[in-house]
Amino acid sequence: MSVQHADVVICGAGIAGVSAAYHLALQPGIGHIVLVDERPPLTLTSDKSTEAYRNWWPGPDDAMLRLMNRSIDLLEQLDTASAHRLNLNRRGYLYVTGNPAAVPALVASAQLGAQLGAGPLRVHGGSVHDPVYVPGNAEHWQEQPDGADLLLDPAWILRRFPYLNPASLAALHVRRAGWFSGQQLGMILLEQARARGVQLLTGHVDSIDTRGGRVRSVRVKVAGGEQELATPVLVNAAGPLVNSVAAQLGLTLPIFSELHRKMALEDRFGILPREAPLVIWEDAQQLPWSAEERAALAESAETQPLLAPFPGGVHFRPEGRPGSQTVLMLWAYHSEPVPPLLPLPADPEFPEIVLRGMTTLVPGLAAYLEKLPKVSVDGGYYTKTRENRPLIGPLPVQGAYILAALSGYGLMAACASGELLAAHVAGRTLPGYAPAFVPSRYEDPAYQRKLEAWGATGQL
Ligand SMILES: Cc1cc2nc3c(=O)[nH]c(=O)nc-3n(C[C@H](O)[C@H](O)[C@H](O)COP(=O)(O)OP(=O)(O)OC[C@H]3O[C@@H](n4cnc5c(N)ncnc54)[C@H](O)[C@@H]3O)c2cc1C
Repeated sequence: MSVQHADVVICGAGIAGVSAAYHLALQPGIGHIVLVDERPPLTLTSDKSTEAYRNWWPGPDDAMLRLMNRSIDLLEQLDTASAHRLNLNRRGYLYVTGNPAAVPALVASAQLGAQLGAGPLRVHGGSVHDPVYVPGNAEHWQEQPDGADLLLDPAWILRRFPYLNPASLAALHVRRAGWFSGQQLGMILLEQARARGVQLLTGHVDSIDTRGGRVRSVRVKVAGGEQELATPVLVNAAGPLVNSVAAQLGLTLPIFSELHRKMALEDRFGILPREAPLVIWEDAQQLPWSAEERAALAESAETQPLLAPFPGGVHFRPEGRPGSQTVLMLWAYHSEPVPPLLPLPADPEFPEIVLRGMTTLVPGLAAYLEKLPKVSVDGGYYTKTRENRPLIGPLPVQGAYILAALSGYGLMAACASGELLAAHVAGRTLPGYAPAFVPSRYEDPAYQRKLEAWGATGQL
């Protein structure tokens, strides 16, 4: 077995590991970095993303918002420096409700987001004194508003977004939000990391030597044999497999995984405008079925769940360059924790359930129900902590670090998360939000009390 020395070994070349490699390579004094993955880079979870981002993180404090604002700052810098290679836009997220009882919660979350630092809140109630509403630019993020527009006049909402359910009552248009090419982000970071000497090694991290309570070496199964990497630092960025790598350190992490799928549909009837933002129906719903269909579904225990209430959160966004008809559609109607099995188990019902749910948000999409169009479905795991915040920082084995549990926001958070991880490893000054993400936070009794009162933060 060959033995090689590395200053840092990173396990996982998803967006987390690639961003960690890029930011570590910028640190003076860190020489040889080896990025190990058994798959080609960015091909397990990181290429399944909707590639959306937002700085909208209502929650018990501003830590997520600050992490995300920093990450979006870095995305904007990279987009500028690469002549718009990221295709970053700022079309926003539009959260819509048709439930009168849900309007106060939408208003409260709008106020909280603004208080936490997401930018100004502009309220549009249908009065002549309303502030000006600036429609989003479809392709660019520069000189676009931030903060949010709270739209409380249903007639105005339908004039502006005529494809929405006519029962829409209120909408929140979050403005420092949109989407970008996650694959390009990964490639830019990887290219620049490799240009700074980061070595990509194809192989499976199989065991970690932690004699004496500190990282000493990492054993990697490579084609035709094994390679030992003698190293004082290991970064666990193994995505949904993060717990199996933690087990090699003798640790168990407080995380779980949910299976999330997405589908791409060709909107050949042009029901959805190509310049639309990412649009989310906030309300729980029952799938729309005809009386006959309902009767047939009620007959079998297997199909009865299709008559039960489904959660809120069905959402879409247009995908592709001008001329494309593709629309991405997502709905996590099964979000219970599951073992992260690979390859993903099939769900043949997913396209029809999502399309039916989507007709509640955009009734015109019912045109596709008669003959379901061809769709492509993929997905992956949201690996999460219970409060839906990532794990970034040192683990309780000297020299071991983690950058994981990036849930449904790993692309948008990648830049600031990699930067934060690198600051931990290099012993540099940490930003004020760092303590909110260190794994040791769970040992703090005050944090444990805070957790008890914590609701899950948004996942979109
Ligand atoms: C359907 C869906 C939609 C999403 N939408 C968005 C979105 O709109 N915006 C957003 O920001 N995020 C989104 N996400 C979340 C985002 O994709 C993830 O948070 C992110 O990709 C996680 O990256 P990662 O690097 O942690 O994990 P991964 O990309 O899974 O990378 C982990 C890597 O570790 C490697 N690995 C694991 N164990 C070992 C080992 N023992 N040895 C060697 N290699 C190993 C794996 O091969 C893999 O390549 C979405 C996710 C899904 C599933």
